[in-house]
Amino acid sequence: MTMKRRDLLLGSTGMVASVAAVGLSAQAAAQTRQSTIHWHREADVVVIGSGATGLPAAIVAREGGSSVIVVEAQSHTGGHAICSGGNVPLGGGTSYQKKWGIQDSPDLVFQDLTDWSVVEPNGFPDYRFNDREVIRAFADNCAATYDFLVAHGVVFVDKAPDKLGGSSVGNSVPREMHAAPMDWPLIQTGKPAASDNRTTMSTGNGLMHPLAAAARKLGIEILQSHKMTAIHRATPQAGPVIGIAVDNNGRLINIRARKAVIIGTGGSTTNVNFRRMFDPRLTEEYCGVAGQPWSDQDASGELAGMAIGASLWGLFNNTGEFGSGITKPGTIGGQYGYVNLRWFPGSEVFDKARATGLPVKDWQDVVLVNMIGKRFYDETGPQFSSGNYGSIDPYVPGSYRNGKNLKFNPNTFLDAALAGIGDGHNGGGPIWAIFDADAVEREQWDPKPPNVDYEAGFCFTANTIEELARKIMMKYQRVPMPPEALAATISRYNSFVDSGVDEDFSKPKPLYKISKPPFYAGWATPVLHDTRAGLRINARCQVVDMNGQVIPGLYCGGESAGGFSLHGLARATCQGFIAGTNATAEKPRV
Ligand SMILES: Cc1cc2nc3c(=O)[nH]c(=O)nc-3n(C[C@H](O)[C@H](O)[C@H](O)COP(=O)(O)OP(=O)(O)OC[C@H]3O[C@@H](n4cnc5c(N)ncnc54)[C@H](O)[C@@H]3O)c2cc1C
Repeated sequence: MTMKRRDLLLGSTGMVASVAAVGLSAQAAAQTRQSTIHWHREADVVVIGSGATGLPAAIVAREGGSSVIVVEAQSHTGGHAICSGGNVPLGGGTSYQKKWGIQDSPDLVFQDLTDWSVVEPNGFPDYRFNDREVIRAFADNCAATYDFLVAHGVVFVDKAPDKLGGSSVGNSVPREMHAAPMDWPLIQTGKPAASDNRTTMSTGNGLMHPLAAAARKLGIEILQSHKMTAIHRATPQAGPVIGIAVDNNGRLINIRARKAVIIGTGGSTTNVNFRRMFDPRLTEEYCGVAGQPWSDQDASGELAGMAIGASLWGLFNNTGEFGSGITKPGTIGGQYGYVNLRWFPGSEVFDKARATGLPVKDWQDVVLVNMIGKRFYDETGPQFSSGNYGSIDPYVPGSYRNGKNLKFNPNTFLDAALAGIGDGHNGGGPIWAIFDADAVEREQWDPKPPNVDYEAGFCFTANTIEELARKIMMKYQRVPMPPEALAATISRYNSFVDSGVDEDFSKPKPLYKISKPPFYAGWATPVLHDTRAGLRINARCQVVDMNGQVIPGLYCGGESAGGFSLHGLARATCQGFIAGTNATAEKPRV
């Protein structure tokens, strides 16, 4: 079955105009539009994305009696959630917390996540701009979401909840649990974890493999390599949502949703234009987004929602440099350097990742330079200065002292990296880690493929510093690196090793000269991670339009939804649970 392009166009332009002209009711408009679209598939509930929002939503909707189709853009399921650390901060009095004697309640979760007084070490408030309605719904559904995950095969490491990973400063009680991979293969390697680690390590593999298996067991169809390209609404700005358009390897198909469509597309960090609405600095060179190349966060859910009138919400939450939103890379020499995610040969996506990266144990071993070969800050600067878990101590909810007690520590390392070279460009350009053969020895690196990526220009090597600078040519290097500038930088740095004082950036006692060939330049450009603003939703996870009205039949959760500054999995799984519960309860429209 092929759909004619005219079918789509008719539905979205010509027909809409005539509907408006004759003033048909929303219901009549929906029926008219339904009949103009050639539907290839249909289900009660159509879920977009098979990540931390999508799979819980799909399972809950199916168990609520709905037929469900999930569309997934990638050729595999799991989204960023399966790449994640599997740290899940669900609290509110879960049976898990009770087992470890931790007193918690929905009210306490709500109080914590709306506490105006909590600030990060960079001075930005974590929760001040959270939407109260959205947080209340989360707080009230946390414990049920925990039970849901466990009932669908997720095994959490058997130890007391803590405050690591996804939770942040200012939480009153420990809520974080850790998903164990058990015998599931890890997407990073293609193999299961070492047998002595399977029940003790924390990984998103332990969360998402069981959910995908549970979904399939329930008969939920997951259409992989099916990318949603548009959401069909009765008219572009009014009436209910009636389905979606999908691209399946160039074939356009329409899927009718009798009850509802749920957006779980995972945010916007890989869409350069979209992310720059929040932070103009984030230009193309920030191409090593955490979770790529497994899946993209291309804002397709947000854009499709906005095209039919949806509003964005809580935009400050995406502008504050919270947690690991922007990070110093943990590995160098490859495009994807997120500190907690490495791709190994054997992974299904290794051909796209191309390199595992060299993990940096000691930042004394490298000098970081910008595009024009100049240092810009103390290389040993911390990973990120926000998201310091437990850094408000004691934490007294709602007290102005919370902020006062915190040591102010602006995120200068990353801000310096993103500041650029003063050429009027908004982005900071590539950052290169320069090191020598002695550093290779100390770090026990093997700077060869598959550890580094020479072919795509994310690593270079040469026998002199000048030759190295001349070789650094790749698409994000806007200007050639002047060889004499890099040579001067390295020579000055080496003099700091002699004197024991970094006169430029106060690196604590520079330890090692960069003097023994071969020399290397490894990609060390900041990595992007989180989306914390997206479509406006209400407590039921229904999408709300620019006039504050619900768009009937459209739901959203996770990183594509706005109003909620909290890293990751708890927010996404819980909102998937809420969206699925409400979507399945809708009456079929056809
Ligand atoms: C390396 C890493 C470590 C992390 N560690 C943690 C952690 O320990 N704890 C924590 O709480 N959070 C963590 N996170 C964050 C967490 O994984 C995400 O916040 C969470 O997965 C978001 O869920 P989501 O459903 O919004 O998006 P995702 O889980 O990314 O799912 C979105 C899905 O939608 C699909 N999709 C997108 N567009 C379309 C389209 N147009 N059509 C069809 N499908 C589409 C994507 O391919 C993807 O499969 C981590 C993230 C990463 C990358």
